[in-house]
Amino acid sequence: MSFQRPKGTNDILPGESEKWQFVEETARLLFRDYQYNEIRTPIFEHYEVISRSVGDTTDIVSKEMYDFYDKGERHITLRPEGTAPIVRSFVEHKLFGPEYAKPYKTFYMGPMFRYERPQKGRLRQFHQIGVEAFDSDNPATDVESMVMALDFFKQLGITQIRLVINSLGDKETRQAYRQALIDYLSPFEKELSEDSQRRLHENPLRVLDSKDKRDQKFVADAPSILDFLSETAQKHFDMVVAMLDALNIPYEIDSTMVRGLDYYTHTIFEIMSDAPKMGAQATICAGGRYDNLVEELGGPQTPGFGFAMGIERLLLTMEAEEVVIPAFNELDAYVVALGEETNIEALKLVQTIRNFGFSADRDFMDRKAKAQFKTADKANAKLVLVIGGDELENQTVTVKSMANRKEKSFSLTEVYEHFDEVYDEMTLFE
Ligand code: ATP
Ligand code: MG
Repeated sequence: MSFQRPKGTNDILPGESEKWQFVEETARLLFRDYQYNEIRTPIFEHYEVISRSVGDTTDIVSKEMYDFYDKGERHITLRPEGTAPIVRSFVEHKLFGPEYAKPYKTFYMGPMFRYERPQKGRLRQFHQIGVEAFDSDNPATDVESMVMALDFFKQLGITQIRLVINSLGDKETRQAYRQALIDYLSPFEKELSEDSQRRLHENPLRVLDSKDKRDQKFVADAPSILDFLSETAQKHFDMVVAMLDALNIPYEIDSTMVRGLDYYTHTIFEIMSDAPKMGAQATICAGGRYDNLVEELGGPQTPGFGFAMGIERLLLTMEAEEVVIPAFNELDAYVVALGEETNIEALKLVQTIRNFGFSADRDFMDRKAKAQFKTADKANAKLVLVIGGDELENQTVTVKSMANRKEKSFSLTEVYEHFDEVYDEMTLFE
């Protein structure tokens, strides 16, 4: 019998995992510069945490949840996204308290789960890196977050991207717009997809987010939410636009963009990749403001702003743009051990080198010299230390530099006591 991984999941193997580490490390460094600290939440939550936040009529909650009842009859779901769990944690630990810095800025990274039709850039277990900033309703927080996302892509070497923004306004805006949308769509009700017919009355904004062709032709001519912004919402959006302009950040406004989660208010945005071959899965980062979510999950009224990036799609974009990731796999020294009798000495040598703080590896298979040198070459070893029968008898080791082809014999004692000096001498270019 043989097994395969579940559909829509991936094993991330060496060769690939280095790229993930590069992306994650770049994010950690950048987020630290912007003063965001990490929160790690469990990968499963009470179903309610997600359904209340993301919204019952969304695709995520109505179709894509990995939910189940555990042995204690609790309704549990694997998390489909990161914001609701972070808000739950923020409220549970009272991170809104006066002892914490404001805005409270946090990031997360990890797997998310959605029961979707797997395709390129769309998985059932996928990974997100996301950030959240609580307690600031200043439009500068919206802009700082979006700029940080753009900064991140720049640092990764991604250039073919586009920032798209919209505003969903406040409650007043949504009420006015909701009615306008129902009035506009109702005459076409029978021509809409089944999902949209249902949503038209439950949550008409969801119709705008439909990926169904039958809906999209009506969506194109729908009234613009930007014409319904309340005075407060208009002021907020104008400020966001002015601040992006002040920073010379290019952006597009797309008034039909609503995002697939119900918790958003005011500014929402997506960063799309224009790299070839990204297809329909071109959104690599998405987010926005959610001024009512903390309250929705039982906390005090606290505004929030955040975004999430899909790591799989990010890596596809880097591939499409042919970004070169800095080499990770350099090895300081490889020990070529010739003959079984050198087994103990070879072990002592690699451990000594490692204790000096260098990276090292050796042969374990008692292979021929040629095969061992090939391995050293493949591993990009800077130095090769050869120990064979003769060397062992003379208590020496032959050190070869792979870069400058220098070769020299050292006593074992010298290597054991002063490997750092041996390393410097042999890797120095004349
Ligand atoms: P889409 O419209 O492509 O379904 P979404 O609106 O559902 O995306 P969000 O919930 O906003 O996406 O998640 C933010 C980001 O996470 C997306 O822009 C994308 O990069 C990534 N993402 C979302 N769902 C998946 C998935 N199933 N597989 C891989 N990445 C995903
Ligand atoms: Mg989706």
